[in-house]
Amino acid sequence: MVVARGDLQQLLDALTAQGYQVLGPRVRDGAIQYDELSSLADLPIGWTDRQDGGFYRLEKRDDEALFGYVVGPSSWKRFLHPPTVTLWRSRRTEEGFELVESPQDPPKYAFFGVRPCELHAISIQDRVFLQGPYVDPIYRSRRAGIFVVAVNCGQAGGTCFCTSMGTGPRARKGFDLALTELLGPERHEFVVEVGSPAGAEILAQVAHRPATPEDRARVAEIEAETSRQMGRQMETAGLKELLYTNLEHPRWEEVASRCLTCANCTMVCPTCFCTTVEDVTDLTGQEAERRRLWDSCFTMEFSYMHGGSVRSSARSRYRQWMTHKLATWQDQFDVIGCVGCGRCITWCPVGIDITQEVAAIRGEPVT
Ligand code: SF4
Ligand code: SF4
Repeated sequence: MVVARGDLQQLLDALTAQGYQVLGPRVRDGAIQYDELSSLADLPIGWTDRQDGGFYRLEKRDDEALFGYVVGPSSWKRFLHPPTVTLWRSRRTEEGFELVESPQDPPKYAFFGVRPCELHAISIQDRVFLQGPYVDPIYRSRRAGIFVVAVNCGQAGGTCFCTSMGTGPRARKGFDLALTELLGPERHEFVVEVGSPAGAEILAQVAHRPATPEDRARVAEIEAETSRQMGRQMETAGLKELLYTNLEHPRWEEVASRCLTCANCTMVCPTCFCTTVEDVTDLTGQEAERRRLWDSCFTMEFSYMHGGSVRSSARSRYRQWMTHKLATWQDQFDVIGCVGCGRCITWCPVGIDITQEVAAIRGEPVT
């Protein structure tokens, strides 16, 4: 089906009318972030992003594209696996403490503008939180019933490598509706693919026409053009074995000499899932709460055991992160933990590039 630019607002309105809180990309603090959308005018219309190792800039495009950029520092993980969650709260009583509040029901989310690599990241977190022996009830309650409007990428970012990871640039599954933006001097339309009965129900409320063979051919061309533009690539054949047999490779020392162990890469990564728990009391000692917070394998505390941290060097922490992401993850969850979104490269303050680190361990020349 094809929806005209002028009719796309009806899609947002239909989602809102069905009780969804619609979240999507917006310009915030000089970057594309995900936040609440009340109208298509909230989207970063006419903006694009320039990305490289440790580099991110928003720039104006010379058209009015709604989705003419790729991914920014925030991901949908923020809503499904929030950075801070109160697990319980209690108040002092005559007898001791009583629980005062149970967790609130999460909103019914519609994610508007989910990129193909991000669909894969959500499916990876589904494996971690829902499909293993221990189901996370917080993730389950937030994930249940979300409506996903995917957007196929019409251009690749400077740090993207989804084609290497088999996660993009076109969405194949995991969405209710998927849009491809068709832009030209005389046209601004969206080819819409339906991925679920819920998607068909919503699309029925939006003015549309059937897609022609030319429309479908243009979608295929956009996919091919975007694939050719990938800013990075990573060879994945034999990756697990490569890393398992190179635990003492000198490259770990070299990357550690640059790594600040700041943990940015794990915070922006849409698949990293580690957390810690802390107990907090108020100043009067009357109330206490237990919080779950995102944590990172780059901190010393993360591997603290009685007597000290197991991974006390930057070398061991970077190796842990990359080896888990690309190798151990496969043993745990039967999938690589990286979707090639490039965030860890863009948002690393010193521009450390996971694709280059893999290449170096393979013995290939690096730039
Ligand atoms: S690789 Fe970069 S982002 Fe990650 S911890 Fe090291 S310096 Fe920070
Ligand atoms: S490791 Fe880097 S490129 Fe891979 S999913 Fe995480 S942030 Fe994206």
